[in-house]
Parts: sequence; C-alpha cells; structure tokens
Amino acid sequence: TRVLLTGGSGFIAAHTLDVLLKRGHSVVTTVRTQEKADKIKEENKSAVDKGQLDFAIVPDIAQEGAFDKAVVSDPPFEAVLHTASPFHFNVTDVQKDLLDPAVIGTTGILKSIKKSAPSVKRVVITSSFAAIVEPSKGNWPGHVYSEEDWNPITLEEAEENPMAGYRASKTFAEKAAWEFLDKEKPNFTIATICPPLVFGPIIHALDSLENLNTSNQRILWAAQGKWKDEIAPTGVYLWVDVRDVAEAHVLALEKPDAANKRFFTVGGYFTNRDIAEIIKRHFPQYKDLPSASTPGGDYPEGGKEKGVYGYDNKRTIEVLGLKYRSFEDCIIDCIVSFQSKG
Ligand code: NDP
Repeated sequence: TRVLLTGGSGFIAAHTLDVLLKRGHSVVTTVRTQEKADKIKEENKSAVDKGQLDFAIVPDIAQEGAFDKAVVSDPPFEAVLHTASPFHFNVTDVQKDLLDPAVIGTTGILKSIKKSAPSVKRVVITSSFAAIVEPSKGNWPGHVYSEEDWNPITLEEAEENPMAGYRASKTFAEKAAWEFLDKEKPNFTIATICPPLVFGPIIHALDSLENLNTSNQRILWAAQGKWKDEIAPTGVYLWVDVRDVAEAHVLALEKPDAANKRFFTVGGYFTNRDIAEIIKRHFPQYKDLPSASTPGGDYPEGGKEKGVYGYDNKRTIEVLGLKYRSFEDCIIDCIVSFQSKG
C-alpha cells in the first residue's frame, strides 16, 4: 500500500515507519525541515535506494492547507497515518502551541485528502488515552475505561495549565475527526489509536537526551538518580510499548474491520516504583536509585485491583490481533537505547 505518514521525526512515528517498511508498504513521510528528512534518510538508506521511502516537507501543521501538496503523490496514496501533534508542556499559549496544531492539523489533513486525494481509503489518526480519561474522577476505582469513554474537558479548562491543554488538544482533535466523517461523508474510513503512556526504545534522531520525547522522560530521570529520596507520583497507571503502538497503527490501516473504530491500546498497569525496580535489577551500575524503603511511586490504597480504574483493550486484540510486550522488556530496551544516544 502507498502510505503518507505525518510527523516522521517523532518517537512513535519512527517505529511506525519501521513497521511500514518491513511490511513492504511504500511510504512518504512528512517532516518539518530538509535536515530532519536527511537524518531519517541516513537511517533508512536501503528503503530510500529502493524507492520505498520519500519525504515531503510540512513546516507547520497548524497552517490552513498545510497538507495540500503532501497528500498528492504518484502513485497516489491509499492510506494516511496522521501522528504529528505537539506533545510537550513548555508552552506559553495553549491555543497556539497545542490546540491549533492538534485540531487544525487533523481537520486540515482530512480536508486536503477529501479535496485532492480521492484514492485514500483509510486514515489512521494517533489520538490518546488523554481523549478518553476523565481526570476529575481521579483513580476512579470500579470504572473500566474503554473506547466508549470521552474526556469531557472544555475549552476553558484547557487554558488552565499545559497538561490540561495537551489533554484537550487530543480530545478536541479526535472529536473533530469523527465530526468531519459525519458531516463531510468522505471517500475514506478512519481509525483512531488511543494509547496511554508510551514507553520504549528511541530509534528517531536525537541530538541529545535533553530533547527526549515527553513520555520517556521519567525513565531517564529514574536512571539518572532523580528519584533517590522520593519516587515521583505515577499519575497515569497505564502504559504501552512503542513497538506495539506502531504495530497497531499499521494493522489499523491494513485490516478492513478496523474501519471507523477507536482502539484503546493498553499494554497493562505500571507504577514509577516498577520502573525504578527494573532499572535496579538490570542496570546495577547506575547510582542513586531508590530502594525498597524509599517513599512514593506506588499504587493508591487498594492497589491496582481496588484502588485504580480498570481498562478494556479487547477490541485491539480481537480486531487488530495485537499482542502486547512486557513492561520489563520495554524498560530494559528503553534504557539500552538511551545508552546508545549518550
Ligand atoms: P514526539 O514529540 O516525538 O512527536 C511529535 C511529532 O509531531 C514530531 O514529529 C513533531 O515534529 C510533530 N509536530 C508537533 N507539532 C508540529 C507542528 N506544529 N507542525 C508539524 N509537526 C509537528 O512525540 P510522540 O511520538 O510521543 O507523539 C506522537 C503522537 O502520539 C502525538 O499525536 C501524541 O499526542 C500521541 N501520543 C503519544 C503518547 C506518548 O506517551 N508518547 C501517548 C498518547 C498519544 P518536530 O519533532 O519536528 O517538532
């Protein structure tokens, strides 16, 4: 299949590109600059040489019509994977820095496809658990989160802080995609992937670990000894391996039955204490790791069985046939990848 992948320079997108190429798809990926394209080229020389991988420059997805040119290709695209969206909290203006690129980026690419790429049959969009979770309910014991749930966040709440802004950006963007489908009745079907915290090895170009993607930061901090005196609160107790998320994106474009469905891709439960313990067990050379008596980083009272929401990831297994990797392997591979990046 001929596929357009947006945001190819990202943590999740780099793994998604990997899966696409291994399955023999022909890919054009968008990046913001030629320099970023060149770095991806270096890592995927054989695919570039075979004509299996090409690039389109889209500097800012928040601009109207940003994807008008990128969606046109010869041979024409049959599927689009839209992963590009800001995921960081160093923002000054929630609207401009988070909501606009997420929402205009999503509606913009759907409009461009409808207008100029009639051969596209499936669009897979990276949404998030952020678009599912109801933060005001806290740990919500007894509730089982699934694809049925929607974050009820409002624009006013979105402006309160960057984390709320991020969750709102994902919620509003996914809602806008389903509304587009309803109102515009395009030629294509969509599928949305809703992962909780994504951890795992970094394979994208990174100048320095200081620019590490947001979700992996806590693993780096743990390894650097930042939790020596107190383990940081876990916050969200659900995680998934980046390689499984990548697989889910590609399966959602390949499987006819994935049409017009959300997918809650959850690998399982975890706590920050689990991260610290795995690092200690497998990387004894690291200093300043917390011990069994260090406070913090646990489940709330009642544990994961009675103190925290449940999750239902059945659809991802039944429809996509997804298999989930273990937390231990994920954290080990993640740390090994940090070592290779210095
Ligand atoms: P990254 O920060 O690594 O990737 C984000 C990508 O989006 C980058 O390629 C970035 O380009 C691009 N991007 C952001 N803003 C713009 C913009 N205005 N114009 C053009 N490109 C832009 O993070 P992830 O890989 O983790 O995130 C990928 C997707 O997965 C996002 O949609 C995110 O919301 C979603 N997600 C991530 C989770 C996680 O735990 N990691 C959990 C759930 C969902 P550049 O690097 O050049 O700025």
